[in-house]
Amino acid sequence: MDKIILSNFFAHFAQMLASGKPLLDAVIASGKKSYMNGHRGFVNYLAASIKSGKSLGQALLNIDFPKEYIGYFNAGEWEGRLDQTMNELALALKSDAKTGGEINLNLSGKSTGEKSNGGEILPTGADKTESENDSDSETYTDAEYKQTVKLVNGWLKKCSDAGASDMHIIPVRGGDGVLKFRAGGALREIEKIGRDELIKAVARIKFMSCLDVAEKRLPQDGRMIIKIGEKELDLRVSIVPSLTGEKVTIRFISKNEIMIGIDEIKLSADELEELKKMTDRPYGLILVTGMSGSGKTTTCYSILNEYIKKDCNVTIEQPAEYLLSGATQIALDPSIGLNCLAALKTAMRTDPDVIFISGPFAGDPSDRDILNYAIKAAQTGHIVICQFGCKNIFELIDSLLKTKDIDPAALANILNGAVAQVLLRKLCGCKKAADTTPPAFIKKSKNAAIYMSAGCEKCLNSGYMGRVPVYDVITFGRDIKEAIASGDIEKIKKMTTGHLEKKAAELVKAGITSLEELYRVFGQFFQA
Ligand SMILES: [Zn+2]
Repeated sequence: MDKIILSNFFAHFAQMLASGKPLLDAVIASGKKSYMNGHRGFVNYLAASIKSGKSLGQALLNIDFPKEYIGYFNAGEWEGRLDQTMNELALALKSDAKTGGEINLNLSGKSTGEKSNGGEILPTGADKTESENDSDSETYTDAEYKQTVKLVNGWLKKCSDAGASDMHIIPVRGGDGVLKFRAGGALREIEKIGRDELIKAVARIKFMSCLDVAEKRLPQDGRMIIKIGEKELDLRVSIVPSLTGEKVTIRFISKNEIMIGIDEIKLSADELEELKKMTDRPYGLILVTGMSGSGKTTTCYSILNEYIKKDCNVTIEQPAEYLLSGATQIALDPSIGLNCLAALKTAMRTDPDVIFISGPFAGDPSDRDILNYAIKAAQTGHIVICQFGCKNIFELIDSLLKTKDIDPAALANILNGAVAQVLLRKLCGCKKAADTTPPAFIKKSKNAAIYMSAGCEKCLNSGYMGRVPVYDVITFGRDIKEAIASGDIEKIKKMTTGHLEKKAAELVKAGITSLEELYRVFGQFFQA
């Protein structure tokens, strides 16, 4: 039998199994495909074997199916994931077909074997059994399909409503799965997913994000844009094969959140003024810093959007995380030599007014080549926005000054300012009055109304709903520039420390977040 025909047969067989069909129904349905015309003996033999309770692997061995392929069945049947391993077999057959296409099966005397169990299953003639076209659209029945669509949409909506940043579908041993959301930084289990539901849901998610549904061995990345109510969501989908199955991670990014300007990222009037001062300068370096998940990328894009509104030529150079219309975005690809520095040089050739550098600085400001290039670009009349992973402005400047071969005077001279930020979890409406004595720094404030987290269905019992950003925005004036140029760490520390913490404490006093959250994020500062 031709390997390609066998490959198609097993691929279809696997899909039928994945859609929840029993083994016998699956083999019969796959046997009806028109490319199986002339191979009814093979199909009947398999069906009869299944009816007699034989394992597929054993049945195939009996007709001299090559031993190297039998392993797929044993692994599949043992793990209870026959559909997946069968699909792998289909891919293996397809790829092997390039080097010799025939497999000789010994079906003589076996095509209608096991008569005692009612061997007649399919007519061996031409395909007249059913009007069926050859598309694979019948992988699910209509009802099953609709159910899966409803299920996945329900998850996406629930995740979005909970204000979660990520949705995880994690396969566990035995083929079942678990749905988890990351909300307010914490990962929590939402529900268990049955094996059949899991397989269909993963296929549906791949379909929605334009990924290869049949590919189950390689990691895949995609995106889907969906609308939930009025909210348009731009979702990043990542599928990674693991020992227990395919793990799906969906990152929630609200498009409405990205396409905003600095008037809308919830800066206070003072902070906004400060930031406008910083961005009004015609050239120079602007530093944005925050731990991962602090929302700093949103801030960067909001600032970039301001420049685009002013008709500046904006170039962004990074692994493209968001799409920003009006900007030239260069995605890094080290495999072809397009590393950050190369991309930065390319970016300079597009005559930019503004350049945004992210990727390599996330957490590591010590890449001196890039940093020196950024300084040079700023010195030659460009706005350069750099994103870092330090938790506040002091830490950032401190590590910049510790970077080898960086001239502090040149850096100080070209620095326009810096933004640091952190996100705190906001108390849900179910919050209750705090039952502990507030610490001194809160007591001093007369009108403080301190709350603590409770938990309700809406907030998935976490007590928190959404997050609130806290910013430290400093436009660098002469004093701090002098301190940086002379490397006066103590002076810099004095001028830049404690801002985020004080603003966060105000949010506690206003009942927006809790003391626990304040300590969780700024523990050392308040407990020292
Ligand atoms: Zn609640």
